[in-house]
Amino acid sequence: MLTSLAGKTVIVTGASKGIGRGIAKRFGLAGLNVLVVSRHLDEAKKVAGEIGAKASAFAADVSQAEPCKAMAAAALERCGSIDILCANAGIFPAAKLGDMTASDFDQVIGVNLKGTFLSISAVLPAMKAKKRGRIVITSSITGPITGYPGWSHYGASKAGQLGFMRTAAIELAPFNITVNAVMPGNIFTEGLEGLGKDYLTTMAACIPMKRLGTVEDIANAVLYFASDEAGYVTGQTIVVDGGQVLPESPAALEQMG
Ligand code: NAP
Repeated sequence: MLTSLAGKTVIVTGASKGIGRGIAKRFGLAGLNVLVVSRHLDEAKKVAGEIGAKASAFAADVSQAEPCKAMAAAALERCGSIDILCANAGIFPAAKLGDMTASDFDQVIGVNLKGTFLSISAVLPAMKAKKRGRIVITSSITGPITGYPGWSHYGASKAGQLGFMRTAAIELAPFNITVNAVMPGNIFTEGLEGLGKDYLTTMAACIPMKRLGTVEDIANAVLYFASDEAGYVTGQTIVVDGGQVLPESPAALEQMG
């Protein structure tokens, strides 16, 4: 049982849908003040409404510095502190090499990697002043461990988040701020659903647990990194993928029977 986080404040980016929504709702259940962030205020407001009175919505594009600063200012004004940041917002459009344009590449890196840097930078003054903070990044198995055709830019952004995290964790350790990352496998979200039924079915068959992950599977791991109990854990990752990265080859899955 983790010590209660009730009354603390968490910002969750990319929280209007999918994994971010699941994280925001999990923290809402745990009694935190939740700032639900996405580019679309109406969508963010719906999620804040599902969580209840302790949640509110904010519209910000994490690939831009000023909206990220405004997001941090809103959390401070509304809740009085920023205890936890979940840098979760991300996109995964597919483009194979040869078709991928420089602008495709910039867009994915801009949201996923630069957006992680900008949202973290925006909350640091408040966390440093308090000498306490928890930052949890949503990375992926794709990039750090695996590859998938069409996602070279995405994989670079997700592996880049981990490189960024390791140095950030060292720099922020003296301020009692931890920086860790979850690495989801294939999690059933609106974004993943957009890849089509064939993708979802084929992927589920490749996972030893024979199912896609749920947003709650990821939210529980995020909650651990945000907890008091994880105070001595920094610069680390946890893979939450139902065993997807484990088989040496398709034969390993066939041998499962
Ligand atoms: P999703 O269902 O498409 O949701 C993405 C969220 O990010 C939405 O709330 C979206 O809201 C927001 N967003 C997108 N661009 C943004 C921007 N520039 N600024 C602020 N918010 C933005 O995606 P998901 O599947 O939940 O993925 C969430 C995170 O998990 C991503 O970082 C992704 O790389 C990672 N991940 C997902 C999986 C998976 O299987 N689903 C696996 C590994 C890693 P708006 O459109 O309203 O802005």
